[in-house]
Amino acid sequence: MNARRAAILVTALLASCTHVIVPERPLPPRRSAHDDRRAPDRRPIEDQHAALRLGTPSPAAGAALCRRLQRLVETHRWNMNACPDGLEWRQVGVSALGEPLLIAELGTVDAPLSVLVLSMVHPDEMTPLHATLMLLNRLASAPPTGVRVVVAPLVNPDGLWRKEPSRSNARGVDLNRNFPATDWAPTRHLPWKGKLIADLRRFPGDRPATEPETLFQMALVTMLRPHRIVTLHAPWGLLDYDGPEVGLERAALAREAMRSFMRIRKRPRAHGRVSGSLGSWAGRDHGIPCYTVELPSSHPYDGPRFTPAFWAAFEVLVTP
Ligand SMILES: [Zn+2]
Repeated sequence: MNARRAAILVTALLASCTHVIVPERPLPPRRSAHDDRRAPDRRPIEDQHAALRLGTPSPAAGAALCRRLQRLVETHRWNMNACPDGLEWRQVGVSALGEPLLIAELGTVDAPLSVLVLSMVHPDEMTPLHATLMLLNRLASAPPTGVRVVVAPLVNPDGLWRKEPSRSNARGVDLNRNFPATDWAPTRHLPWKGKLIADLRRFPGDRPATEPETLFQMALVTMLRPHRIVTLHAPWGLLDYDGPEVGLERAALAREAMRSFMRIRKRPRAHGRVSGSLGSWAGRDHGIPCYTVELPSSHPYDGPRFTPAFWAAFEVLVTP
């Protein structure tokens, strides 16, 4: 998919949300390599307004999500409230099966620093859900100052709410291989060339940006223009970084912060450049610092054990 077609798809998704003014350009210009803080905003005032509010207020959908998540919390005996009271839920689309795609807004809308948190892209990795719910609770009880945090706690609801949570979405696509990155590859799920063994868990889609959940993430990046993206996965036990050099030092600090809670692996070869991933698209193609926290276990039992490691990294990643 070329950039023009991706822009059309994102525009179509945004147009389905009322109160959203679609920005003219699908992505912000690449930021200076010397500063990942917000550059002066010289867009027309209407576009600035569009960047200020994402999606439409959806308290009922948020409450319904929290009730379902609470049942999951109790199943796994996580001993916590799934959602704190008073979260501001907003809807930015629907999944392939019609589930609302929701974000929670925390901090200050017009803060000079914005951080986008994307979780449960792969719902068979359960520790990120524990970490994300703890994040919501902590940020709600002690709202961050000088930073706007937008959290999409459940990027792939269709994958989570099936009988056995799956890595892929309802249409069998790996959402972290479906971004219209310059390196998107239709053969991504054929890792053993010549043996005709397809790893369907990593199917990138027939074309890039075909999935509503991919468009959801692209819309958030396009509208919010975050200074940093934090995404949670498991079970590699590392902190991966994609993006301009300006973010490397922060990635090293976050890695160091995690080290007292878990063993940090070096970036394995398999994680070199993952075609069609969020890191490739947002980090490498568009220059937005993109930090991927990989917790060392996917098992829900390990959620409480590794959440402190995520929190330690997050405190570094959310610091101005
Ligand atoms: Zn994952």
